[in-house]
Amino acid sequence: LDSAASSQKPSQVIEAMNTYYRTTHANVHRGAYSIANKATEMFENARSSVQRFINAKHHEEIVFTRGATEAINLVALSYGQRLQRGDEIILSVMEHHSNLVPWQLLAQRTGAILKFVSLSPEMTFDYSHYESLLSAKTKIVAVAHVSNVLGTINPIDRIVQAAHRVGAVVLVDACQSVPHMPIDVQALDADFLVASAHKMCGPTGIGFLYGKRDLLTTMPPVHGGGEMIETVSFESSTYAPPPARFEAGTPAIAEAIGLGAACEYLQSIGMDRVWEHEQHLGRYLYDQLAAVPELTLYGPGRELPRGGLVAFNARHVHAADLSFFLDQDGVAVRTGHHCAQPLHGLLGAAGSVRASLYFYNNQNDVDGFVTALRSTLLLFAELNTTAKTHR
Ligand code: PMP
Repeated sequence: LDSAASSQKPSQVIEAMNTYYRTTHANVHRGAYSIANKATEMFENARSSVQRFINAKHHEEIVFTRGATEAINLVALSYGQRLQRGDEIILSVMEHHSNLVPWQLLAQRTGAILKFVSLSPEMTFDYSHYESLLSAKTKIVAVAHVSNVLGTINPIDRIVQAAHRVGAVVLVDACQSVPHMPIDVQALDADFLVASAHKMCGPTGIGFLYGKRDLLTTMPPVHGGGEMIETVSFESSTYAPPPARFEAGTPAIAEAIGLGAACEYLQSIGMDRVWEHEQHLGRYLYDQLAAVPELTLYGPGRELPRGGLVAFNARHVHAADLSFFLDQDGVAVRTGHHCAQPLHGLLGAAGSVRASLYFYNNQNDVDGFVTALRSTLLLFAELNTTAKTHR
């Protein structure tokens, strides 16, 4: 129950990478022989798979990166160069460190100011607070689509429309949405959207940045090297158009092919079905946990839409102890601050336990988890009683 951290991999993905290494390995974009051309074709087909998966208009709007973190850094380092002292960047208080620290660094470099959208009492994105923060000074809005702690689903289409009204661009951290629900970047009208392959059945070490073509074309490169250039002299260079401009050096070829296979695999199941299953099972998980009196659950209640994950704490038992005992029963859950330390500060907790679902989980997984959790809580209650009697 830890797929929000990283998912399992289907054999289709492992086989696609295996086949590439066994039969078609060569460097891409530079071959004069047939295997190299085939490798390039597989690599570029993977880009097209990602394009179709999120319904991007153009193939060249997909930039391969090492993951979502690198994709956000890329935007901060490249697009961020146009920011000036006093410009404002709006984030929400529920951001993952990956969608916070790159903007802190950008603010330190440029003198830009970070503003944070707070949580509503229902632990959702406080939209009216967001509207009050928007102004002509706002240059970038960067928000998670689905919170990796609260499960909150943010109203990206409305967030984008409002940002565009003041001339700001929007980056969507879609790490917890792309793997789980149908995503249409054209419908969302997002300027940038990022995700990591390893949370969506693909390998580690690869992810992507989607960027609108007109924006990517205006952005300077961040890394220099082979493949990202047009012409090079000793003194200076001109740069290739996107996506090559942002993909210096030999890329993660097998990983890109694995990501492409993951997109095809998920699409063969159907993202509507994946989402429906997770909504159903997520509600079941929420209800089962809500019925345990010792627990505090974070995020919106069951009546509001939420992603298929629940983070919680138990009275009198540390999150790390809970996950340790759950592990003894073969239940894998995440514990800690889930790379959202400021959010945990707001929740008044140092960390939490998080159970997260994917399409391959079923009701038995939830039942096994909740049974193990209840018996762990009982064990701690008994230990507490024994300790008090002996005091
Ligand atoms: N944003 C969110 C919402 C996440 O859940 C994660 C992964 N935990 C990231 C960003 C960072 O992803 P990665 O470490 O794969 O770059």
